[in-house]
Amino acid sequence: MAPEKIFKGIPASPGISTGFAYIYARSNFEIDYQPLKSDEVEKELLEFERAVELSKKELKKIRSLAYEKIGEKNSMIFDAQLEMLEDSYFTATVFHRIKTELKTASFIFDDEISKISGAFLNSNDDYLKERFSDIKDLRNRVIRNLRKEKLVSKVEENSIIIGHELTPADTILFSKRKVKGYATDKGGLTSHAAIISRALRIPAVVGMKDISKNISTGDFIIIDGLSGYIISNPSEHTQSEYKRKIAELEDYERTLKDILIMPSETVDNKKIELSANIEFDEEIDFIINTGHCGIGLYRTEHLFIEESGFPSEEKQIEEYMHIANITYPNIVTIRTFDIGGDKLLPRSEKEDNPFLGWRGIRISLDKVEIFKEQLKAILIASKDKNVKIMYPMISSLSEVIKAREILEEVKTDLDEKKILYDRNIKTGIMIEVPSAYFLADELARHVDFFSIGTNDLIQYLLAVDRGNEFISGMFLEFHPAVIRAIKYIADAAHKNGIPVSVCGEMASNPLATAILIGLGIDELSVVPSVFPQIKQIIRKVNYREVKNLCNELLKCSIETEVKKMAEEYYKKITSEIEELS
Ligand code: PEP
Ligand code: MG
Repeated sequence: MAPEKIFKGIPASPGISTGFAYIYARSNFEIDYQPLKSDEVEKELLEFERAVELSKKELKKIRSLAYEKIGEKNSMIFDAQLEMLEDSYFTATVFHRIKTELKTASFIFDDEISKISGAFLNSNDDYLKERFSDIKDLRNRVIRNLRKEKLVSKVEENSIIIGHELTPADTILFSKRKVKGYATDKGGLTSHAAIISRALRIPAVVGMKDISKNISTGDFIIIDGLSGYIISNPSEHTQSEYKRKIAELEDYERTLKDILIMPSETVDNKKIELSANIEFDEEIDFIINTGHCGIGLYRTEHLFIEESGFPSEEKQIEEYMHIANITYPNIVTIRTFDIGGDKLLPRSEKEDNPFLGWRGIRISLDKVEIFKEQLKAILIASKDKNVKIMYPMISSLSEVIKAREILEEVKTDLDEKKILYDRNIKTGIMIEVPSAYFLADELARHVDFFSIGTNDLIQYLLAVDRGNEFISGMFLEFHPAVIRAIKYIADAAHKNGIPVSVCGEMASNPLATAILIGLGIDELSVVPSVFPQIKQIIRKVNYREVKNLCNELLKCSIETEVKKMAEEYYKKITSEIEELS
């Protein structure tokens, strides 16, 4: 028997399964370069029309299957492909070029599609790069139909599909065959195949480089979507290890489901608000299907990616209304644009120090009309009184005052137009710049809540670039300065009667949960994937105990001492929780 082999990739959708591999090789349909004779043009135009119609029909079928399996939001991927085929300007251009250039429909269509896909491929943005494969899928579909070839999928039920690349349509169509996993050579976390696998709850590993060449159809394999492994010819020992892991995972998932409906409070009944950080569409499903919780941080920057620039007021109203509706009756905290830094800049010049540059509220206050549009859209979405506004990158009180004046102007404008909104909408600020920490007491008198952005606060406090892997070991959540800053901010908030949350990644670190509670944090806004786990920890914490622990911890002057105390408490409370690995 062949020896066991382990292949590593990017874990893209959690879960573990075992099964037989099916290697899926998608054909790249050839185009016909033969020039046309003028009496062949009419027939070619009809052939193109027929291929477009057939492709639309196929896409509509896939879309309705997707709708049924993964919901409306996720199936919108197919709308984008359909829209392109329904774009009369696009098809008219192809028609016109066939007639005037006497070239085949496949040649012209491919050429027109390449113009669009080229722009995506050359983008520096991962998300846009991934859209390239969606367009390639559309190209192959139409050219296959021009060649009158059928779509073949002979995959056996319960297989693990392995391919160089999978399109969203492949992922959806294969799921009809009860597949047990997907693994691809290419792709990243934002590839649509990865997104759909997560929505379908099918384990997936992407970016495996050459897995499709190393595994053959019929090989017995294990796919581990949690750690990103494919194991071929697993030994007896590996198989029994994984049997145990699968059983544990099933148990764990059952426990987590139960946990979701339980209150978020410590053993001594201190309520800790637990909410989610949401940025992308696929995360919204978590609110609808799993968490049914509030959103402590709704990042609006994704609208920038989708609209390649400042989104229109209409688009924003639609987006914020949607998020407010699905969160209702829970609260959604919408953060105004935090562009700049490592996020998209609305201008071409690069700054030498973007993290210390034109970013967040600074851009909003400079571009007042754009800021007003965003505030207006947020206010309109607040009509059911479940929306809060939050400003990022506040570094001085004058920014808060200026933002409030602008908000008041927008409110007056809405009043004049008799447009409904929440008059008492709560406005808060992110505390993520050291100057805001020093001014916390004054700032707290001017806002309704604080939210600590530990990602930036740590970066600015410790002078450690959050995205620089050379110094990632210096990005210390348990640094005494960070712990003391959090305590000081929480105290300043409470002294002035306002609540304080943490929405940076530290809130999603299970090791930090008890400490943050002990430091006085009222709300944790976490990434959806750890939501149940953090709830489980909150329910094991004893508030009185962690408050005392934090008093000790605040005396520490070395990071390792803080971390050791945090670990010890974590071990103590989690020894009762069944651990995963
Ligand atoms: C933070 O800085 O901690 C935060 C939540 O904001 P972002 O990561 O979007 O900068
Ligand atoms: Mg930040």
